[in-house]
Amino acid sequence: MPDPQSALQTFHDSIKDCQKCALAAGRTQVVCGSGNAQAPIMFVGEAPGYYEDKEGVPFVGAAGKLLDRLLQEIGLQRAEIFITNVVKCRPPQNRDPHPEEVEACQPYLFHQIELIKPRVICTLGNFATQLLLGRKVGITKVRGQHFQVQDYFVFPMLHPAAALHREHFQAAVREDFQRLRAFLDQGLQPTAASEQMKLL
Ligand code: URA
Ligand code: SF4
Repeated sequence: MPDPQSALQTFHDSIKDCQKCALAAGRTQVVCGSGNAQAPIMFVGEAPGYYEDKEGVPFVGAAGKLLDRLLQEIGLQRAEIFITNVVKCRPPQNRDPHPEEVEACQPYLFHQIELIKPRVICTLGNFATQLLLGRKVGITKVRGQHFQVQDYFVFPMLHPAAALHREHFQAAVREDFQRLRAFLDQGLQPTAASEQMKLL
């Protein structure tokens, strides 16, 4: 058995020439994700932007700098987490990813989840939240709460980019990180699949 970091690296190497959707045409490189291959906490954003596409690392631009600060404020290091996006290639002009692009790319995210086996997945914004909850729900309805999905929790949060251009969102974005801190401090464990069966 390869160690988790090499297993994840091998997987990432295997998708670097992916042509499964239209986003392949405009990208510099596939931005798979970065961080700890055994992270108990994953963060999932929307799509790489200009700097992420250039550097090959998620959340290195303005939203990433803010994310770093918010993580630091609640005592989380990048080394303890794994960060990725719903789609791994930058959409032209940073437009929203199209449904068929999300559809084409989602097996990669789910494979990353299988390899990393996080306890909590923080979904930043509507795209990640709707994909991981498997339903079309607005982020403002579900933000700052946990939902058990399979053997992990999904914890929807406002996307930090929301606070970049709209000052009045800053307090709300920060509040979601505070709620995440409180949730992590509870140390709640997901109910095992066998127990879930009994509850049905
Ligand atoms: N916004 C995202 O959703 N993802 C990134 O990687 C950068 C900004
Ligand atoms: Fe492949 Fe995903 Fe990039 Fe589309 S966005 S080309 S599915 S890696």
